[in-house]
Amino acid sequence: MSLSRRDFLKISSTVAAISSIPVFKTVSAMSKSTPPSPPSFNPNFCELCFWNCGLMAKTVNGKVVTIDGNPLSYRGKGKLCGRGNAGLGLLYDSDRLKYPMLNTGKRGDPKWKQVSWDEALGFVANKMNDIKQKYGPESVVLFSHGTGGSFWKHLLKAFGSDTYAAPSFAQCRGPRDVGFYLTYGSDTGSPEYYDFSKSRFIVLVGSHLGENAHNSQVQDLMTGLNNGAKLVVLDPRLSNIASKADWWLPVKPATDMAILLAWIKIVVDEELYDKEYISKYAVGLKDLKEAVKDCSAEWASKLSEIPAATITDIARQMSKHKPNLCISGGRFTVWNGDDAQRSRAIAILNALMGSWGREGGYYLPAKGKVPPYPGLPEYPETKPPITGEYPFALLPVTNAIREAVTTNKPYPCRGWIVYGSNLIKTLPNSKETIDAIKKLDLMVAVDVLPMDIVKWADVVLPECTYLERYDDIATGRFQYFEAALRVPAMKPMFESKPSWWITKELSKKLGLEAYFPWTDIEDYLKARCNAAGISFDELRKNGVVKLSTDWNPYISQQNQPVFNTPSEKIELYSKQLKEKGFDPVPKYTAHEQPPQGYFRLVFGRTPLHTFSRTTNNFMLDDLVPENELWINSKQAARLGLKKGEYVRLANQDGVKTDTKIKVKITERLREDCVYMYHGFGVHASELSRANKRGIGTDELITRYKVDPIMGGTSLRGNFVKIIREAQL
Ligand code: SF4
Repeated sequence: MSLSRRDFLKISSTVAAISSIPVFKTVSAMSKSTPPSPPSFNPNFCELCFWNCGLMAKTVNGKVVTIDGNPLSYRGKGKLCGRGNAGLGLLYDSDRLKYPMLNTGKRGDPKWKQVSWDEALGFVANKMNDIKQKYGPESVVLFSHGTGGSFWKHLLKAFGSDTYAAPSFAQCRGPRDVGFYLTYGSDTGSPEYYDFSKSRFIVLVGSHLGENAHNSQVQDLMTGLNNGAKLVVLDPRLSNIASKADWWLPVKPATDMAILLAWIKIVVDEELYDKEYISKYAVGLKDLKEAVKDCSAEWASKLSEIPAATITDIARQMSKHKPNLCISGGRFTVWNGDDAQRSRAIAILNALMGSWGREGGYYLPAKGKVPPYPGLPEYPETKPPITGEYPFALLPVTNAIREAVTTNKPYPCRGWIVYGSNLIKTLPNSKETIDAIKKLDLMVAVDVLPMDIVKWADVVLPECTYLERYDDIATGRFQYFEAALRVPAMKPMFESKPSWWITKELSKKLGLEAYFPWTDIEDYLKARCNAAGISFDELRKNGVVKLSTDWNPYISQQNQPVFNTPSEKIELYSKQLKEKGFDPVPKYTAHEQPPQGYFRLVFGRTPLHTFSRTTNNFMLDDLVPENELWINSKQAARLGLKKGEYVRLANQDGVKTDTKIKVKITERLREDCVYMYHGFGVHASELSRANKRGIGTDELITRYKVDPIMGGTSLRGNFVKIIREAQL
């Protein structure tokens, strides 16, 4: 039985009504004989996306009945977004993984056998030890996305492997982090250090914040706009936030760099930069000026199709509002393969405006630390993590790990533990991912739901949801330092287990129990709290503890910034890049444009889904059940497309989708692109709601470039044509 959101909301409003959900039958039966117990409230933080907004879960008769934002949480500020409010849709999803399983068939065509936890973990431990013996411990790697991954990382380090990768680096924010790191010696944080609520001028480059619903950041952005901040949005699509902008620049895709370089030239030539700030904190202005001398507004206009007068006007307006302005580094920054350089251009422009460390710009994050569990043995010496041939990869690179399976370079990679990462959909070119998986000696999936990746596993370890488990302490460096805790609001359903338990049990089978000496998770958490001087009881009760509350987030005479670059200054010209053979100042690269008859495939987010992570959630499925293909009305008329018609897509390499997508005809998009939400077109048949709804961008992203600086894969260089039913 599937349950609509309307039904759910109706029945979740009162405890009595909850008895109509099958999963509550036990509660219902119990409540007939016993009066309902008083509700209990437990703090937690949301895991429907990585933002991790604080919440309070209300439990009645052993079942969670509501969740609400925790006002103490910096990340949520007392609110949950639409997805976060649907947390119960994950908890009570009838498609959840329910018990450990071994695959007695083939990877990709599994025959599942239900086994005990003892058997499943014994299988994993034996295989890990075999790999260790044949190739070395570093040949087992971890892909991880989510809070429980920290225990897996600890286990892998104890085992002797330092490669733990997250697609959020090479397939999302890595270019931005590296661009800022090369400029300031610091990345932009996550959540980012944007001081939007106090900004007087905000620039979003290809970012659709709002639809990309990062809770507190969207709240801050709206506060800034309500207080009168000017807004510029560069986006080929009139996104929701672009519709609120003072300037929407419908930039020709893949030419944003030209506008950024033109802005830099105008600001430098007209001496509109913050002179005192640049002279005190930056190096390389002369070289920067020389490098951008040909990047006029007229030059940028021809490339980007944005009028030169508009480009010039915005550069001057920016300068009028310095230093209280924020040119956002964005989040999904893997576009064309030169993305670290584009991010560096954004970082340089912020520096010229003096916005790093200034009110309304980028705040200086508070210091703070929760030390590790005391007295643990040293980790064994390990080989360096797999980062590929990319000299400025700050973290292990997912696609380099995939390559290492085939090339055995820098060393063989034989075992994958995949924690909460749907690699089939997150890495470009799923065929390459599948080919790599087929060559492995061990493939483990740890997940809550049977995502597309699960059928490629040898063994499946079902994790319980965030509402049923403790996790490690989550910390955040904001304008104060925050420690947050997740406390189980009910017992795990089925035979699912938390990662802290799974890894501790696995450590025993691997002979690594010395690294897991705590008796249980509370013992572990109390020891970490003690080491940090935090009251465990307070954290357990409130979910959040604030530290460093007297932190000054802005530069002043007494509060000077530190730049961890080789020159200890902001590097407008990067000798580090030059020494490694890269451009020391960003340059414009012309990228391929769509061939005749094709559109550039542009994709993004709906505020009601976090990619494929939530498309099976019955509360969200009821609101946004599938993605649509946005197409400009002129192009739709030319092709004779009708609103609501279902079409297939084929890309430049002849890959044709096997699912269909509904046409949405709009004026809100340039004519050279089509746009869709990411995360749909799920192929896992076990996901009863998401299966085959809409089209997955992953099917169409067969071509990608790799950023030579940091290893990020470009995801916006694929072109599609539309196939109507009659043409099939
Ligand atoms: Fe959850 Fe929304 Fe916060 Fe993400 S932004 S953690 S989905 S409430």
